Amino acid sequence: MKEFLNYEDEIYKCSRCGLCQTVCPVYKATLNECALSRGKFNILNGIIKGELKFSDRVKKYLDLCTGCNACKEFCPSGIDARKIFIAAKNEYYKNQKQTLLQKFLNSYVLFKTLLICLGIIAFIFRCFGISQIIKFSEKFLLKFGWFGKKLLLLNLLVMHKYNAKNIYSPKINGQKALYFDGCFNKYINNDTKNAVKNILNQCDISVVDSKFECCAISYFHDGNIDEFKKLIEQNLKEFDESCDYIITDCASCNAVLKQYKDFNESQKALMFSNKVISAVDLIKNIQFESTKTLNVALHKPCHDNSDFINIVKNIKGINFIEIENYDKCCGFSGKFALQNPKISQEISRQKIKNYLNKNIDYIITTCPACLLGLNQGLTEIDEPDKPEAINLFVFLAEYCKPST
Ligand code: SF4
Ligand code: SF4
Repeated sequence: MKEFLNYEDEIYKCSRCGLCQTVCPVYKATLNECALSRGKFNILNGIIKGELKFSDRVKKYLDLCTGCNACKEFCPSGIDARKIFIAAKNEYYKNQKQTLLQKFLNSYVLFKTLLICLGIIAFIFRCFGISQIIKFSEKFLLKFGWFGKKLLLLNLLVMHKYNAKNIYSPKINGQKALYFDGCFNKYINNDTKNAVKNILNQCDISVVDSKFECCAISYFHDGNIDEFKKLIEQNLKEFDESCDYIITDCASCNAVLKQYKDFNESQKALMFSNKVISAVDLIKNIQFESTKTLNVALHKPCHDNSDFINIVKNIKGINFIEIENYDKCCGFSGKFALQNPKISQEISRQKIKNYLNKNIDYIITTCPACLLGLNQGLTEIDEPDKPEAINLFVFLAEYCKPST
């Protein structure tokens, strides 16, 4: 990654045309000029000229970005704004002395502890039937505003949608594929992991569990490159070089794991990144057949370059419903939702409107953070026939089989 000051020419390329206004989800939700790439470039220009300094306030404005890359694809000057914001935030971390509290709040220790606590809550919800009670009380809980919605959101995430025990039967073949769980599978709900194993087994690929930590995308996006590098080191220690692949089912993990080699100069990091493959790519040539007639639509995660759209469109026996803006940001994006909860909620709310009153049973996606974003929007809807958000592999394992 280049140092912030090396992006000077790219920042000057911004003609201030304002075209990014039409695509930026954060600008649309806030009408705040600082949410736009153009607005942030104005601030960064001030820093380059020495008129402004990196501060907590500047960082807050830089954080007004989900990293969706919509502006990059739309910008007539072809500016990769996300990259520049990450470099600028990294410069902030280098220049601004962090208090002990800030260091603790940004640490992986705290993040992991929170995930473990969430995992314990998820376990209690499932084991003591609390999930079912919450599901049954949806209408009532919606009357409790923020608290009720968050409880419903948590419940949607922890509930099992896939009964893995009945159909999962591992096979061993010649190739060894290490499974990169990602935080959601590892701590909160392993439905997707079980579904991936089941689908890949049916396709004669065996998957081996690993002890990898978080992929660290939230640290990368936050510009906290020191923490990002520490997690790369930890994950490299768990990397068994004799494996043939490292498989991930998460679009965001996939994108960031492939970048490890750019932040760690070792041969091991190069080998690691080169072995990363999306689970979706392993099933792209398989034709699936649905065992139930369902109406399905898609949400494409911003960082998903896999073929999952065609996999879904080609499933025999489903009714595929094309949705406008299916590829636009869901508003979650890891730390963004924690830093800007109201904006994140508003983007999710707008996004989900596209899927309502279209008789859709499922919105299929490939990223756990997007499931959070979609569910964040869905919990606001008090309609009995609203769609459900579901991971691609859970959908395939629950409702489909490879067609012969
Ligand atoms: S679209 Fe590109 S050139 Fe135009 S204002 Fe936005 S960032 Fe600048
Ligand atoms: S990456 Fe997305 S959220 Fe960030 S400034 Fe560009 S369009 Fe807006």
